[in-house]
Amino acid sequence: MGYAQVAVDFPLRSPATFTYAIPPSMEVQPGQGVRVPFGRQVLRGFVLELVPASPVADTRLIVEVITPGPVLSPEALALGRWLAWRYSAPLYQALALFLPPAWETQKPKKVIYLCLKVDSFAPRSPRQALLLEKLKEGPMTLAQAREIAGEGVRSLATKGVVERIEVEVRRDPLAGKVFPHEPPLPLTPAQDGALEEIRQGLLSRKGVFLLHGVTGSGKTEVYLQALFRAAALGRRGLVLVPEIALTPQTVERFLSRFPGRVALLHSGLGEGERFDTWRGIREGAYQVVIGTRSAVSAPVPDLGLVVLDEEHEWTYKQDETPYYHAREVALERGRREGAVVVLGSATPDVESYSRALKGEYRLLELPQRISPGAFPRMELVDMRQELKAGNRSPLSRALSQALAEALPAGEQVILFLNRRGLSAQVQCRACGHVLECPRCALALTRHPEGLKCHQCGSRQPLPSRCPRCGAERLSFLGLGTQRLAEEVAQAFPQAGLLRWDRDAVTRRGAHEEVLERFRRREASILIGTQLVAKGLDIPRVTLVGVVLADIGLTYPDFRSGERTFQLIMQVAGRAGRGDWPGRVIIQTYQPQHYAVQAALANDYRAFYQQEMAYRRRYRYPPFSQMARLLYSSPSQARAGKEAERLGQQLRAAGAEVLGPSPAFYPRLRGKYRWQNLVRGEDLPRLFSSLEIPPGWAVDIDPVHLL
Ligand code: ADP
Ligand code: ZN
Repeated sequence: MGYAQVAVDFPLRSPATFTYAIPPSMEVQPGQGVRVPFGRQVLRGFVLELVPASPVADTRLIVEVITPGPVLSPEALALGRWLAWRYSAPLYQALALFLPPAWETQKPKKVIYLCLKVDSFAPRSPRQALLLEKLKEGPMTLAQAREIAGEGVRSLATKGVVERIEVEVRRDPLAGKVFPHEPPLPLTPAQDGALEEIRQGLLSRKGVFLLHGVTGSGKTEVYLQALFRAAALGRRGLVLVPEIALTPQTVERFLSRFPGRVALLHSGLGEGERFDTWRGIREGAYQVVIGTRSAVSAPVPDLGLVVLDEEHEWTYKQDETPYYHAREVALERGRREGAVVVLGSATPDVESYSRALKGEYRLLELPQRISPGAFPRMELVDMRQELKAGNRSPLSRALSQALAEALPAGEQVILFLNRRGLSAQVQCRACGHVLECPRCALALTRHPEGLKCHQCGSRQPLPSRCPRCGAERLSFLGLGTQRLAEEVAQAFPQAGLLRWDRDAVTRRGAHEEVLERFRRREASILIGTQLVAKGLDIPRVTLVGVVLADIGLTYPDFRSGERTFQLIMQVAGRAGRGDWPGRVIIQTYQPQHYAVQAALANDYRAFYQQEMAYRRRYRYPPFSQMARLLYSSPSQARAGKEAERLGQQLRAAGAEVLGPSPAFYPRLRGKYRWQNLVRGEDLPRLFSSLEIPPGWAVDIDPVHLL
């Protein structure tokens, strides 16, 4: 009897597979979906490999096969195994990423056609006669035939006059959409140099490139032409974007360059559409696949090029098990399949940039915008001075003045305020200092019992005076988009105003609607959170106000400086995209902060150097690797105890553990949440040698620590 190693749909990290016997009447192959007994249940699983003998006695039998043949290719099995190890995830869950969500129940959609078999038949009814007449011109669908002859269709079929043929059809969300074909543009010397290097990579079937260029420097054009080069070599392309809904213009450019040969994969697709698109991709029906994070596992055959646009974006990290990062998976996939990887950004993740400086990636730079319009003029406003001058409005005098000039001239304005700011941080309104944990250099959070560091768990009382300047002006940061909108409406009652954030815009499709209304100039001011920083290209926008740069900075996370720099740079890129020069006003209580200063000077390198110095000093990535281990339980005592126990176990294994401490949201959906942060050099190895008990969520390389 033969045996199979099966990854079972059960949240266990180890053992990764169980051995099952294959019944004599059954044939299975690696990559096939099966159902197996597990305890008292019958669960789904994937066959990993066939083995001649079982390591255990009394091996149980596979119950049935779910799929007629393999659904996971050997490449998907190998990459899935790697992913499970790299992110310490249960193997079944890692493998399931390589299939569309409804892989088990979906059936290909079939349409029934009718065609004429006997053309000498004389029907009784005139409707049947009409139908037969039409069928002489060619087949039609059963539905169309019923419209003509109603129930008369059936008798024609039973008499064998017409024949039914089943045809599989692809549910294609782009069907019937036509995009004007666009020819490639003649490249600038900088673009040409970058493309040439990528072309060399394609020829040698290896290479990772970091394409660093400000918004509008022509990165997308380089991606498009690199995809052409790959196609010329008979290879396909995969393009990952942070969020399809926010980058419709970019997506359309790909569709126009490769008409009819692009597949789109994103969460907005229906299950059937997703399933069919996935099957079409696997059959090689598309030259280019564009998608969000999960598209990294799309079954593209002959993959030659993977592009990750805006590679620094956090949306590439999955925020539930398996907590993978699409960039890391793309890099591993490129290595395994001989595909070139191009990472593009105006503000690369410092971890990517440091790899580029170390020579792991090839750095390609596009230093200038394509259009003659220079990068917008950046100005800084020190909000402490506003307070001193008696201005308590969230709008500084400079920003109010700029609004008063821009609006009557018919120009449009974007006001950016990052909602993710938590009012729980304490800041001195006199000197701008934000109270920090002395050990972790992260903002402290206010609690009824005092101030707390959410990383290491240390506590201290709320001081009455600022520890830096001594003023009794400590206050809580609390400005949100809603209050800002009220203030702006009061100050500029004539100007139309739109709000764009996840509170104001929740319905699907509403994002496009707000954008479209702003584009049509139904409003002259757009107020929003980080959504407004993304991909907007509206020529009438001349003024961008960063209403409170500090909000990002006080977020208690070691990436807050990086995040702030990226957001200011991105939102600044929204100004002056048309023929009018752009202007950006950054309001802050911490004008001296390096992230703000570097953004003001539009100087990525300066930011990078200071950020790396900070990371080195506090041993944050890339100078270490971090993981967040989270436990939730309806019982607070249980959560605390489990966290304590795992913390000890990890320490005993030689890991550096910060915590345990309650998570930043200590109670979510009725469950108490505790976490351990782990720091080390090679965490996948550490965790694979340890038995992490069930119930723990393991997030290796978390994008936030809260
Ligand atoms: P990025 O992706 O860096 O934001 P894009 O590739 O979108 O930059 O280019 C910005 C603008 O410049 C687009 O409107 C694009 O059509 C145009 N563009 C890009 N490359 C060229 C070129 N070589 N010649 C003329 N226009 C170009
Ligand atoms: Zn701390």
